[in-house]
Amino acid sequence: MKLETIAIHAGNKIDPTTKAVIQPLTLSTTFQRDEDGNYPGGFVYSRADNPNRQSLENVLAKLEGGFDACAFASGNAAGAALFQSLEPGSHVIAADDMYHGLKALINQVFPNILDVDYIDLSDLEAIKAAIKPHTTKLIWIETPSNPLLKVADIRAICEIASTHGIKVCCDNTFASPIFQRPLELGADFVMYSSTKYFGGHSDILGGAMIAAEASALWAQVRNIQSLSGAVPSPFDCYMTVRGIKTLPYRMRGHAANAREIALFLQRHPKVEKVFYPGLESHPLHNVAREQMSDFGGMLSFTLAEGEAAARKVANAMEIFTQATSLGGVESLLEHRASVEGPASKTPKNLLRLSVGLEAVDDLIDDLQQAIG
Ligand code: PLP
Repeated sequence: MKLETIAIHAGNKIDPTTKAVIQPLTLSTTFQRDEDGNYPGGFVYSRADNPNRQSLENVLAKLEGGFDACAFASGNAAGAALFQSLEPGSHVIAADDMYHGLKALINQVFPNILDVDYIDLSDLEAIKAAIKPHTTKLIWIETPSNPLLKVADIRAICEIASTHGIKVCCDNTFASPIFQRPLELGADFVMYSSTKYFGGHSDILGGAMIAAEASALWAQVRNIQSLSGAVPSPFDCYMTVRGIKTLPYRMRGHAANAREIALFLQRHPKVEKVFYPGLESHPLHNVAREQMSDFGGMLSFTLAEGEAAARKVANAMEIFTQATSLGGVESLLEHRASVEGPASKTPKNLLRLSVGLEAVDDLIDDLQQAIG
């Protein structure tokens, strides 16, 4: 089955009693037992499982071509479950510009538990050199990365990892399963902030982890999900399933708009540099073309006149809203360094765009009037 069909049907069940075509929202936290003490409906208590979460996990696993999926209350909770599943003392290799909130989680919650090296994952030799025999257990890829849109070669990294028995997880939030399929390129796990493109409307918080196959590590992720309970509410599951139905079409619109905007910015004399994997000027455009079917809706650019000019542009936008996050139908713009805080290595003259689904001419006019 094709992704468009999976997206619409794999997260839905026609209600057997009312025949409602759209699966209803099940808010009950608890489920009735029969006379023998069994649970004939297949559910016990909603921290462990719930009909809406089960449907969400089903569509997530099917869309990714995975064995199983766990839905979480946020992307960070999904990442945390995998980090927590590693044995204490494990060594992790992670992208040097990985999403700053996950880096903060690793550094502040796991500092005495995990040993982490942040590496430029576009440098395969640097990855090989960072591997510690016996203790390296996980390589954490994020591609394209946030906010520099760096590209890592998923297949090549997975080949290096598998020769050392190391697991690979790819944060695929920017690309979505519509444009990039890490499990097919050899990754063991794929992670998402479903707050972004899966939800698609900036009104739910969620995360997901999908596994290629059964393993002890995966069993522990599932255990952490149901025992720690960082799970999405039935309503958020319902909304995410609803959002996923249009994901393939939304992603095409995001990518088409982002490409036009990237080309416009590249021609603009006040723009210093555009970071978008779909541009031939991107240093790893060839790798991006190999592993992505399109390049997504996220891009960043720097202003030739520096930080003050960047902040002025951010304040002058009329259609783009100045706000963090991404993946909604509305366009957002952000001065990224100031959101990431003092430890940020992001250039101070950089603005990040989450390109929405408005008419692209209106978005370009907005950028033109703000940049001048
Ligand atoms: N990964 C990426 C690439 C992100 O952009 C984000 C959030 O911005 C996350 C993970 C974390 O997701 P959440 O905010 O849902 O916890």
